[in-house]
Amino acid sequence: MNINFIDKNKTITTILLSLFILFTFSSFILITNKYQDIEKEINTKDISNLIYKIQSQLEFNHKLALSFSTSDEVYNFLENKNQNYIFKNFRKGSYTLEDVGLSYYILTNKENKIKFSTYKRGTQIDDIKNFEVFITNDSKELNTINKVIIYKSEAYYLSKTPVYKTDYENISNGFLYTGSKIDIKKLTNLSHSFNNIKFISNSKIKPQTSKLNNKETSSFKTIIHKEIKNNLNYNEISFYNNHKDLIFTIRVKSIIKNINHTKEISLIIFLGLASIAIFILLYISTSYRRELKLQQESIALKIQEEAKELKTKVQELEKANKKLYKIAHTDFLTKTMNRRSFFTHAQNHFNFAKKNDEILSVIMIDIDNFKKFNDKYGHSVGDKVLILFADKIRNLITEKTIFGRLGGEEFALIVKNTNLEDTIIKAEKLKKSIEEIKLVIDQERVKITASFGVSDNSNCNNIDEMLQQADTHLYNAKESGKNVVRSRLNFC
Ligand code: GH3
Ligand code: MG
Ligand code: MG
Repeated sequence: MNINFIDKNKTITTILLSLFILFTFSSFILITNKYQDIEKEINTKDISNLIYKIQSQLEFNHKLALSFSTSDEVYNFLENKNQNYIFKNFRKGSYTLEDVGLSYYILTNKENKIKFSTYKRGTQIDDIKNFEVFITNDSKELNTINKVIIYKSEAYYLSKTPVYKTDYENISNGFLYTGSKIDIKKLTNLSHSFNNIKFISNSKIKPQTSKLNNKETSSFKTIIHKEIKNNLNYNEISFYNNHKDLIFTIRVKSIIKNINHTKEISLIIFLGLASIAIFILLYISTSYRRELKLQQESIALKIQEEAKELKTKVQELEKANKKLYKIAHTDFLTKTMNRRSFFTHAQNHFNFAKKNDEILSVIMIDIDNFKKFNDKYGHSVGDKVLILFADKIRNLITEKTIFGRLGGEEFALIVKNTNLEDTIIKAEKLKKSIEEIKLVIDQERVKITASFGVSDNSNCNNIDEMLQQADTHLYNAKESGKNVVRSRLNFC
């Protein structure tokens, strides 16, 4: 993988992931906010419906109470003049209450003392006496009441009206309490929001300033305020009168719970997506690092291999150079120094000896009658004799002695720190050893000899002069009959 490619991809992925996270987060906020707005609207509408329903029922009950309380028969009953009417119409077992939609019917005198009371069958008020006391005490102060009351977890509409005789307006001889039990099922059916309504009397909610539409409540003395308490399990809606007195509270399971639920799910989804995004980012980053590491390792390995290869090549080159040097400085046949190498070494030694005032000698050797030898035994045999000759001399000198083939069958030696006399002795020894070479060709013993010219550096300014002198003495050796050693001492 190309590094630039990874870099580019990494940047693009990072930007895309960041945009994705931003988009998801914004969507999450927008959706939940929008959802909340919609739910708020639905809830407000449902609550308005609920209040309307309650108020309608209150109005209906009030009208009923008014029609009964302005009846002369009721007035007369309280005056103890018409006992039969009430007992006939509202005695236990009568269906009159059911017919007019009421749950209870209580008549009191002016002192609020109960003169008559009856209840609808199946009202489920077990303790009627307590219920009566609760109603009459609760409503003692006011002549007219139209509200919702809560008794033992049940809610009731309550209307209290003074009883009048049609002829004597404004003169009351008692009070009529009527009402009906609030059918929670009917309220529940108003909306899906109210799927589990419970009336409670002791709410902790403080009244809010917001009010419901006054138009809906204008026909009543009570104006109902509401408040919604959000909670995971339920919502409480409290209703207050104009004096901010709590009338009742209902506790409902609400869709608001679902909003919270939706919020949670959205949050989980968002967190999940964000986690996936982060995981992808981490994965890309790790892959990138791993790839980079692999590349670095591969490059390091390559460099190491190349360095090793280079080292081997340098070693091979050094070997080849050494070989080449040897070839360039060695005579191919006798493996002694060639002419060029010999002269270089001879020059160096001569200069060194001159500088250090040392003695230096040279021995020049030429095989005798070698042309005839070649002619007689062949050139290849002559080559072998040259090799044999060179080996013989090499065996008689030290490794440090400069020994070379000047050309053809002519050789030379540089002898260091040795005076002329001693060099002549060395040359004589060499001559004798050559004579002793046992050469048998075609079962015939063949003798080889050589002539020697010896000189030293005593009277020479350079190597050429010294070699020239040795060559002159070699020539003299040939002239003297060959197989002899000649130097300037022979002419003294
Ligand atoms: P002299 O005793 O006077 O030195 O006589 P010579 O025959 O040795 O000398 P000359 O200079 O006349 O001949 C040298 C001969 O050496 C000629 C040639 O055939 C032979 N020779 C030179 N180089 C080689 C070589 O590489 N191999 C062989 N086999 N012979 C060589
Ligand atoms: Mg010669
Ligand atoms: Mg010769």
